Amino acid sequence: MSSNVIDLRSDTVTKPTAAMLQAMVNAEVGDDVYGEDPTVNRLEAMTAEMLGMEAAVFVSSGTMGNLISVLSHCGRGDEMILGDQAHIFMYEQGGSAALGGVHPRPVVNQADGTLDLEQVEAAIRGENEHFPITRLIAVENTHNRCGGRALPLAYMDAAGDLAHQHGLALHVDGARLWNAAVALNVSPARLLKNADSVSVCLSKGLAAPVGSVVAGNKEFIRKARRMRKVVGGSMRQAGVIAAAGIVGITEMVERLADDHANAKQLAVGLARLDGISIVPATVETDIVIFELDHPVLTPAQLSASLREQGVLLNPIGGKRLRAVTHYHVTTEDIQRTLAAFERVLADAPQGDVAKVHTYG
Ligand SMILES: *Cc1c(COP(=O)(O)O)cnc(C)c1O
Repeated sequence: MSSNVIDLRSDTVTKPTAAMLQAMVNAEVGDDVYGEDPTVNRLEAMTAEMLGMEAAVFVSSGTMGNLISVLSHCGRGDEMILGDQAHIFMYEQGGSAALGGVHPRPVVNQADGTLDLEQVEAAIRGENEHFPITRLIAVENTHNRCGGRALPLAYMDAAGDLAHQHGLALHVDGARLWNAAVALNVSPARLLKNADSVSVCLSKGLAAPVGSVVAGNKEFIRKARRMRKVVGGSMRQAGVIAAAGIVGITEMVERLADDHANAKQLAVGLARLDGISIVPATVETDIVIFELDHPVLTPAQLSASLREQGVLLNPIGGKRLRAVTHYHVTTEDIQRTLAAFERVLADAPQGDVAKVHTYG
């Protein structure tokens, strides 16, 4: 990073590359609501092709991408089945319920980010006037709250098969689908072969400043464009930002492997420290979730002490903290981070819990 701070709070903190800034300056633009922004049109066509989908639409954020996807699949009173740790369920203000009247039916996420497909099948509603109508299954790949786990290809195929056997659609919250594809060494298109829609972020590991893309078949994208309009998400000369997205999908995907290697190295180093627990084998992509098991130090205190050492990362509830590697984090930064952990843990008082206020 330009400053000395190592920012592991999220891959969303990435700033546009020089190539992106150049592309933004040179972008040919037009009014995208008229379909006349050539750069947006190119981003949409290129992304659709990479994802193996017929069509795509550029949106301002992953939250908007998921929202308009759910609203395009489901009407008011319809039900979607999703994980209880899903970003859509946890972190999007329940937008599809609040704005679209879509009823969420959570199923417990397993540690690896998958949903037990037998439980999903059992949650699908039968024909009965008491019940909402199940329309959609949503999975998340990679799975954020489950530590960036990459849902395997066979699982993705099986989830799509299950949905289609019951006449449902499968939506993939693929904010970090690029990471999943790199980690699994399979193309994004293959991973999505059985999916009906996907939302992918450009502004996370790919380092573009703004934007996500929703992809699906032509009819779905026609609906999604209408939904984007009604939530106020249709932009005009959006080619200025789409240009950075094109650089993201063409130049920044393969290098995600570096982020994954750095995350693994961080996990291996953390596993050696007293008071930290993590199983490095579960770190498959750029997200490192670990637990602090210390007699006095709380996750908030650890995070505050690391901040003083120039390392930023966030507590995420309970004993857990999260670090995310990205384009601006080098292998040397990982060594510096581990050294900062060692100093903070060595300086922390070891004993007498009674003297320290820990408010849970
Ligand atoms: C970040 C994220 C989103 C939302 O993206 P924003 O661009 O921040 O709105 C959705 N799903 C997952 C899994 C995410 O990690």
